[in-house]
Amino acid sequence: MALKPLRSLVILGATGSIGRSTLDIVAQRPEAFRVEAVAGGRDAEALAEIAIRYGARFAAIHDESRFEALKAALSGSGIEAGAGPKAIVEAALRQADIVVAAISGAAGVRATHAALAEGRTIALANKECLVCAGAPFMRTAAETKATILPLDSEHDALWQALGGAEATSVEKLIITASGGPFRAWSREQIESATREQALKHPNWSMGQKITIDSASMMNKGLELIEARHLFAIDPERLGVLVHPQSIVHGLVQFSDGSVTASLYVPDMRVPIAHCLGYPERLETNARRLDLAELGSLTFERPDTGRFPSLGIAIDALKQGGAAPTVLNAANEVAVEAFLAGRIGFGDIPRLVAATIEESLRSNDMRELANIEDALGVDHIARERSRTILASKPLSGMVTVQ
Ligand code: NAD
Ligand code: MG
Repeated sequence: MALKPLRSLVILGATGSIGRSTLDIVAQRPEAFRVEAVAGGRDAEALAEIAIRYGARFAAIHDESRFEALKAALSGSGIEAGAGPKAIVEAALRQADIVVAAISGAAGVRATHAALAEGRTIALANKECLVCAGAPFMRTAAETKATILPLDSEHDALWQALGGAEATSVEKLIITASGGPFRAWSREQIESATREQALKHPNWSMGQKITIDSASMMNKGLELIEARHLFAIDPERLGVLVHPQSIVHGLVQFSDGSVTASLYVPDMRVPIAHCLGYPERLETNARRLDLAELGSLTFERPDTGRFPSLGIAIDALKQGGAAPTVLNAANEVAVEAFLAGRIGFGDIPRLVAATIEESLRSNDMRELANIEDALGVDHIARERSRTILASKPLSGMVTVQ
């Protein structure tokens, strides 16, 4: 179907996994999309190559030390270059129909929120924004009438399965989890999993941070918090099902007992295309679902005993206020430390739990007034996590039940 009129895009995190899948859709439909601006973290050469190939007008790199490299790689192209956090915000604010928010982590909060504050339409992949600052984000969106299109597959699936239904008719929203590479592992095995094992996701190819979160199942906890804000639903009415085939992504249970679900092959180009084309349907070359070939789809209850990160995240979801902000910050510090070989896989939930516990003792779990408040809590929680990491042997930390 032809998209009318041509849509312009800003892609934050253009060099990453979601960024590249988005660009793949743009490449398949050059008559439908125009790329206004792209932004990335450090890889100046890759960012410049994307900007040139897709005819962007502005390219912004977060790492200021890479500005010269970006300018050199763009020289002669006529594409404007920028560097540093302000340039990322500038990219987010360029005039465009849709801002694809695909930076990884709370690093994306400021730029994504700036676009929301201007009432833009955001295709939101960057779930940490809503975990770090969900209430202020949704307040800003309501004030400016900005639109948030849920790009994360489970939330895209809930959006599709809801089909515009009245909130009062919805009893429960359920998201699925593949269970990751350690779904069938014992707690002892998971505890000592290596970096290489944790980075090997069975169904999805994604950036490193979300891949580790999927292995610990923290990703599902972050997604429950994301769903709580996106769909304004109470924590008690959210559920998780482990579904190793990653075909059913989200289910909606209605008050009459019916359940609708959204199914597709595990390929992020499907939900991205849904967001970019909405309300029309774009044609993609994603593999088509063949249920007869699959034969069976299976479901299990999640096990928070073997995956304590999920249990900790559910507690933070229920607690609300700044608890998810602290959870997210501590998890980012823990994942970084695990990837750097400083802590073991089983230490990730220990560090997160210890940080939350200290924050509770320091009375830091207030409601968030605004974005600055959320970023302040985030900053303190990171410092606290790093101090715990540096000062205590991990065996001396809180034991997660
Ligand atoms: P990734 O690590 O592959 O890409 C992250 C991108 O952000 C890169 O372009 C990187 O250069 C950029 N970046 C990092 N820090 C930045 C900063 N401070 N300023 C500007 N750019 C910065 O990650 P990804 O897998 O593409 O995931 C991106 C987001 O989408 C995450 O929040 C993730 O949870 C979410 N998500 C990803 C998938 C997936 O399949 N990959 C699915 C659902 C949701
Ligand atoms: Mg997801």
